[in-house]
Amino acid sequence: MNLTPLKSLNFSKKARNKGKIKFLIIHYTGMQSMRASIKRLLSSKHKVSCHYLISREGKIFQMVEDCNIAWHAGKSKWGKLENLNINSIGIELENKGHRFGYQKFPQKQINALVRLCIKLKKKYKIKNPNILGHSDIAPLRKFDPGEKFPWFKLKEKKIGIWYPLDLNKQTSLFKKLRAKSIRKFFFKNLYKIGYRYFNKEKFSKTDIFIIKSFQRRFRQEKVNGKIDLECLKISDYLAKNH
Ligand SMILES: [Zn+2]
Repeated sequence: MNLTPLKSLNFSKKARNKGKIKFLIIHYTGMQSMRASIKRLLSSKHKVSCHYLISREGKIFQMVEDCNIAWHAGKSKWGKLENLNINSIGIELENKGHRFGYQKFPQKQINALVRLCIKLKKKYKIKNPNILGHSDIAPLRKFDPGEKFPWFKLKEKKIGIWYPLDLNKQTSLFKKLRAKSIRKFFFKNLYKIGYRYFNKEKFSKTDIFIIKSFQRRFRQEKVNGKIDLECLKISDYLAKNH
């Protein structure tokens, strides 16, 4: 695998054991250009970094060694874990992001990412449910990699999780749920999948960020913050099967 070294000094002093690495976290750079992204990831002022950065042409830069803790996830939670930097490898994809003109991810970039994920999965025995987007682990703050990121294509290469296209079995059951129980049912499923930052029993005005984060990952054609029948079916399947 062709990795171009581009060393960032933004990582924690204390290295980690190989066994600590359990997650891959996918990001987009969310900046105007590759140059600006690299500058930021190298800057001692900003204190951000990643292990790998992949350009739109599919060139892979290694910025921090796997055994070091890079600073890409920030305040984050997933399942029982907090601060996912400690347990993860962070991969940044060059993309202007929602702020500067969100772009499709080119095939070359996705191919490079797939090759990298296959290698890392094997090396660190990373499980598919532990391959996540930044917005999954920080849904109140982050949108990346966003609704244009092809999670379903990655699943074809056995990377990450997805669901069967035909989930029609229990439609009638979901249709009977009342508004209040719809929220409860959906958020209970999300909690089982690993999402945090909400109360399973009690409505909050930040719920919409969690719903959108789930939609950006699993219901990409409709990111509106509303729990619909598809959201119920998909979350039910994922909660039961992963
Ligand atoms: Zn990110």
